[in-house]
Amino acid sequence: MIKKVLAVLTALTVSVLVTIPAFASGEDGESSFGAYSRVIILGVDGAGSFIEQADTPNFDRIFENGAVKYNARAEFKTVSAQNWGAMLTGVSYINHGFTNGSLSKYERTSDTEYPSIFALVRDKMPEAKLASVCNWSPINHGIIETDIGVDKINPGDDDKVTEAICDYYNAGNDPALLFVQFDSVDGAGHSHGNSSSEYLDQINIVDGYIGQVYDCLDENGLLDDALIIVVADHGHTKAGGHGGITRGESLVTLAVSGKTVIPGADMSRGTKNRDVAAIALYALGVEQPAHMTAVVPGNLFCDVPASPRPVGDGVLKFIVKLLTYGFNTLYALID
Ligand SMILES: [Zn+2]
Repeated sequence: MIKKVLAVLTALTVSVLVTIPAFASGEDGESSFGAYSRVIILGVDGAGSFIEQADTPNFDRIFENGAVKYNARAEFKTVSAQNWGAMLTGVSYINHGFTNGSLSKYERTSDTEYPSIFALVRDKMPEAKLASVCNWSPINHGIIETDIGVDKINPGDDDKVTEAICDYYNAGNDPALLFVQFDSVDGAGHSHGNSSSEYLDQINIVDGYIGQVYDCLDENGLLDDALIIVVADHGHTKAGGHGGITRGESLVTLAVSGKTVIPGADMSRGTKNRDVAAIALYALGVEQPAHMTAVVPGNLFCDVPASPRPVGDGVLKFIVKLLTYGFNTLYALID
């Protein structure tokens, strides 16, 4: 046990030595930094890596020339708030501290230690449209700040989420950053488990919604200069449920499509769903703050080499925060 703790502390200390990656520029062609006018993050709650096993013709056509990784890593614990929180702030659960309960309880405003990527984009683009459409509304209450002018829509079911997005685009809106959360796959996972036909069928249904969103972008002439991301927060166990560290729960899909994405790219080993934050900021030309521990994965964009993961705002702060979450969390991380 003590040896394990020492090993963890040694690893953390070594990671202090790494530096925050510099922004690279392309050798042949356009730099990815700021090359995109719009970033669309399509979140599929509970889908884990199982998009690979489902029938997903729309996902396949959207990412035909993009990068698809089915073994990106979810945040521990493999729970919604922990993971959507990491993706939207670029820091770990240990730092942001969100739980499913806290999102409904505490409204998040811009006076915060770890701002969301919406707040960071807002700082750089005061006039930009920003939007978040969620089936699971606590994300719009407890993660994305409520006082920075983000158009937040909580339509309910996933079909209504899709309809709301298309209505939003058809009304002439062109958000620089759109976040979407589909929730029905998670429900099927809880009820039937990750090996069930019901679960895979629900992924197929949400694939249809993703296709509709993509077609709405196309019909409104917004596919050019768009970076499209599909990502899952966590997966499910065979019996249904999540929160643990099994492969079914902790391996997640991360897919990226855009004009500077290497076709068929295989992102770096160790890529996390948290890295969505860094990818989105990079594409929009917003420099990521030093406290963020998300990275733009190597072998994703044609002009960005693999970079070591930054240590964020420090090992000591990390350990203090870790201890505040209690011995059980520490034990679960090192055991
Ligand atoms: Zn979830």
